[in-house]
Amino acid sequence: MSLQSKNAVITGSTSGIGLAMARALAKEGVNITLNGLGDAGAIAKLTDALASEFGVKVRYSPANMLDGEAIAAMIHEAEAAFGSVDILINNAGIQHVAPVESFPVAEWDKVIGINLNAAFHAMRAVIPGMKARGWGRIISTASAHSLTASAFKSAYVAAKHGLTGLSKAVALEVATHGITVNCISPAYVWTPLVEAQIPDTMAARNMTREQVINEVMLERQPTKQFVTPEQVAASAVFLCSDAACQMTGSNLVIDGGWTAQ
Ligand code: NAD
Repeated sequence: MSLQSKNAVITGSTSGIGLAMARALAKEGVNITLNGLGDAGAIAKLTDALASEFGVKVRYSPANMLDGEAIAAMIHEAEAAFGSVDILINNAGIQHVAPVESFPVAEWDKVIGINLNAAFHAMRAVIPGMKARGWGRIISTASAHSLTASAFKSAYVAAKHGLTGLSKAVALEVATHGITVNCISPAYVWTPLVEAQIPDTMAARNMTREQVINEVMLERQPTKQFVTPEQVAASAVFLCSDAACQMTGSNLVIDGGWTAQ
């Protein structure tokens, strides 16, 4: 079955990996609901550019991934606008880097809220429609940190481990309904999220920018290369395909060999 005219909601798709996923799915003919933070004018340009480049319908939801009711409304508004949500990608994520004993409580709550709780709220809202239609694809962007840990990233590591557990449990619940639920776990992908954590890591580890890139970020990535957003997006398209219909509850790792060590 082609993905043509399926409808996707991709959280955190105004930037980085989510935007690459939006482009890759739009290329397959999927109508897209973008979501994420950013300047309204820049986002309007993004929706127009995606729609005209790929000839699909593109809309935007400003739902804050810290607000469960707004997340449910985002799903229901997308269903009303396009007729269904066939593909949900839980991709919005933030990072905060600090030693656990001085980890700001508000940052802990935000990291867990956006990276983990938001996926629960979105899955909860989207599954009834997917069950009714007998088809659905739910993909969450986890991380190599869903399988392993790094110092000073307690909230992120907890959230990403939680996201794979959540996905496995929901995969079992919906397994007979034509719905698959999977995670994709990249190691370092060169995006604004990675760029933004360099100053904090420099401070936490007393390192230069080059040291953070080579000795922290790529230190555990045996290929010594960043993953690209387009490579992650290609896996999302694969997980939406018929070829992947027996993959569920899985965690597709794209990590340059990080977790093989
Ligand atoms: P990014 O900063 O480029 O994009 C994050 C997206 O989330 C943006 O669109 C942003 O607006 C959105 N977002 C942030 N807070 C939000 C909120 N409260 N409500 C709605 N949207 C919000 O980052 P990215 O690197 O593309 O990250 C995307 C996902 O990939 C995240 O879940 C991240 O944890 C995961 N990931 C990234 C890497 C990496 O190295 N970049 C590695 C593994 C996993």
